[in-house]
Amino acid sequence: MTTRRKFIKQSALASAFVITGMPKARSEEMSMTGSIKKPIVISTWEHGLAANETAWKILTSGGKALDAVEKGVMVSEADPNVTSVGYGGLPDRDGNVTLDACIMDEKGNCGSVAFLQNIMHPISVARLVMEKTPHIMLVGEGAQRFAKMVGFQEVNLLTGESKRAWEMWLKENKYEPIKIDKDNHDTIGMVAMDKNGDISGACTTSGLAWKYHGRVGDSPIIGAGMYADNEVGAACATGKGEEVIRICGAHLIVELMRNGKSPQQACEEAVKRIAKKRDVYKDPFQVGFLAINKKGEHGAYCIQKGFKYALAVDGVNKIYDSDFYVK
Ligand code: ASP
Repeated sequence: MTTRRKFIKQSALASAFVITGMPKARSEEMSMTGSIKKPIVISTWEHGLAANETAWKILTSGGKALDAVEKGVMVSEADPNVTSVGYGGLPDRDGNVTLDACIMDEKGNCGSVAFLQNIMHPISVARLVMEKTPHIMLVGEGAQRFAKMVGFQEVNLLTGESKRAWEMWLKENKYEPIKIDKDNHDTIGMVAMDKNGDISGACTTSGLAWKYHGRVGDSPIIGAGMYADNEVGAACATGKGEEVIRICGAHLIVELMRNGKSPQQACEEAVKRIAKKRDVYKDPFQVGFLAINKKGEHGAYCIQKGFKYALAVDGVNKIYDSDFYVK
């Protein structure tokens, strides 16, 4: 088990005790229009539970899905125990924490940052790229300069724990990248539908631990790590970003749903596309997808056993085990 996975387990356990179900009164706020389940929010991994809790408060008080997904994933970004996102994220092989994030609203507006350093909330920078610039994506030093220009403070994101884990990796692996296996991923991707039936999504990560300096994964790539289309639904991804980019994962899922697949069928088809090109039995990397549609249905599917997700709907916020391909 990697150090990263161990950290995640500990923090997830801690939050699971704090966040169980939703208070009873909230269920009165559930708006069921015909058979449409809304609001709904779904996010990746165990840390999604705490992120959903924040998103859910916004959604049930009539807030926008866009605000819910931004504020939701900010919980993971600020949590030093979540070692794959934001503050406390495990660094690249040179010891730098570099961050990728993207966000998309119900109108198809989107913003993204990649290879961003020393900023606590890349998702909020991505949102401001969307709202305040004529662009969609800013990277590296330019993204950082923009973040400072719009008021973000520079912070050191490398915690003592992450630094120790990196030093240990350096000693044991002698600067050789470790095998990217199913235990090396834990991005937070979140998609939600609000009471109005509007859909948005967000995705934020520190990417793969010990990656090459400058490596950018799927998470900030609109259509790969996350995609939202208010006519259809939304999807997000976690796992080996290179494989997700290759099939334009999140966009593929949304298009499959547009053509009649359920969120579950669409997530399964996307995983099968990867499995067709790669020997996922011999090379046990992980990719996990989540999706929702306009009816408030959801889907989850991954390659290897072990992907968990958090779903808040009908007043209950819970962790579920995703079904998987390699059996
Ligand atoms: N998808 C992310 C990336 O490739 C990693 C993860 O999900 O943890 O950067």
